Amino acid sequence: MIFLAALLNGGATFSGLESAAGAKAEAKKDPEIPATPLNPPPPAPPKKVPEPIVARLGNPPDWSRLDLYQRTITREEFTRLLDHCYARDPGAYQGIIQIFPDRARVLRQSNHPGAGHYDLYFLTDRRKPVTIERYWTPPWKLEELPPNSDKPLRGVRIAIDPGHIGGEWADVEQRYYKIGEDTIPVAEGTMTLKVARLLEKNLTALGATVVLTRTDTEPVTPLRPSDLMDEARAWLSKTTGNQLAPKDLVERTASRLFYVSAELRTRADLINETIRPDLVLCLHFDAAPWLNPYKPAFRDKNHLHLIINGCYVRGEIEEDDTRLEMLLRLLQRTYYYELGLSEEISKTMRDETRLPAFGYDGKTAKSVSSNEYIWARNLLANRVFRCPVVFLEPFCMNNRGVHARVQAGEYRGLKEFDGVYRKNIYQEYADGVTGGVVRYFRKVR
Ligand SMILES: [Zn+2]
Repeated sequence: MIFLAALLNGGATFSGLESAAGAKAEAKKDPEIPATPLNPPPPAPPKKVPEPIVARLGNPPDWSRLDLYQRTITREEFTRLLDHCYARDPGAYQGIIQIFPDRARVLRQSNHPGAGHYDLYFLTDRRKPVTIERYWTPPWKLEELPPNSDKPLRGVRIAIDPGHIGGEWADVEQRYYKIGEDTIPVAEGTMTLKVARLLEKNLTALGATVVLTRTDTEPVTPLRPSDLMDEARAWLSKTTGNQLAPKDLVERTASRLFYVSAELRTRADLINETIRPDLVLCLHFDAAPWLNPYKPAFRDKNHLHLIINGCYVRGEIEEDDTRLEMLLRLLQRTYYYELGLSEEISKTMRDETRLPAFGYDGKTAKSVSSNEYIWARNLLANRVFRCPVVFLEPFCMNNRGVHARVQAGEYRGLKEFDGVYRKNIYQEYADGVTGGVVRYFRKVR
C-alpha cells in the first residue's frame, strides 16, 4: 500500500515522458550525437528505504482508513484537539503533521518522506451535517431517559477490562508482592478481576450490557514468551542496534512482549471486532515504586488518578501505526466523552475512596482540565481500543493500609480500618466507578 503510493507520488509524470521522447527526436536529427552514449554511467544504486518505525508488535498502517474522515473536522477543532490533548507539545508533531489552511498533511512513513504523505481535508462549511464513522454510540445519541428511570444505563454497551492477568502470571508480569508470613499475596490482575465482577453486577442492574475482556486469571492471548523470542531479538536489534543481545535480556523482552503487547493487542481485537462497546473501563490498582526492590517495604503513598488518551510524545508520533491510531481517536472525538465521564467518576471515586490526587511530572502525562485527578496519557490499552476509554488507577497496592484491606478480603458490610468504617476495597472501588457512570449518563441523556 505504502510503496504503491510512493510510486504514484514520486514516479514519472506524463510531462516527464513527453520531454524524454522529445529529446530522443532531437538526438536523431544530429548524427554527431549518438542516441545512446557509448559508456553510460552505471545506474545509481537504489536508495535504501528505511524500515518503518512501528510500535511493539505493530504493523505499518493503512492510511486509507482516514478516507472516511475527509472533511469531517474543521481546522480549528483539529488543531485544538491536537495541541490541547493529543500532542505533548507542538514539537512532538513538527514536520510529521503539517497544518495548512485547508488540510492536515501527514507523513505516511515518518523516517522516509519519499513514501509521501496523506492529505486530510478539513471541513469548511460548518452548517453541513457530517457523519463521523465509529462503531460506538456517543451518549448524547442514545434514547432519552424517562424521568426517574431506574435503568439509566439502558442501551449502553460497556466493556470492562480487568487490568493485567493475575493468578499464576502475576509474578511474570511484575504486578505482585508478598510481605510477611501467611499473608494473602497482593496481585493486581487477581484484584482487578474481583472489582470487575462487582462492577459488572452494578452496571447490569442499572440497565447496561456488560462484557468482560477476561473472566479468569489466564492470558487472553494464545502466545507465550517462548513464541516471541524472534520478535524480541528483532526488537532489540532495531532499537539498540545490538544484534547479539544476551539471552536473559531477550527472555525479559519476550516476556514483556507477551504480557503487555500481545496480551493487550489480543484484547483490542476482541473489543474492536467482537464486543464493539460504547465505552471501555480499564481497571487497575496503582503502586508506588519500591525504595529497594530487593527488600520490599510499605510506602506511605496512596492516591487516585484517572487517565484519558492523549499526551503523545515525539517518539510515539514518529511510530507510523501509533500516529494513525492517535488521529483516529482525535477524529472520532473520543476526548469529549472520556473527559466528561472521567470528571464524574473522579468525584464519586474520591468520595468513596477518600484518596488524594496523584500528580505526574508532566513528561509522560499532561493535565487537560482543572480537575487534578485526570491526566491524559498514551497507553497501549487506551490507544488501540477504538472507542472511548477511561483508565482507573486508585490505591497504591504497596501501602500498608491497602495491604491490610486486601488481607481482609471480600467481607460483607463495613469493617473498621484506622478508625473509619469501610466497605471491602473491591466493593468500594466498584461503587465509586458506578456512581460516576450513572451521574454522567443521567446528565447527558
Ligand atoms: Zn496496572
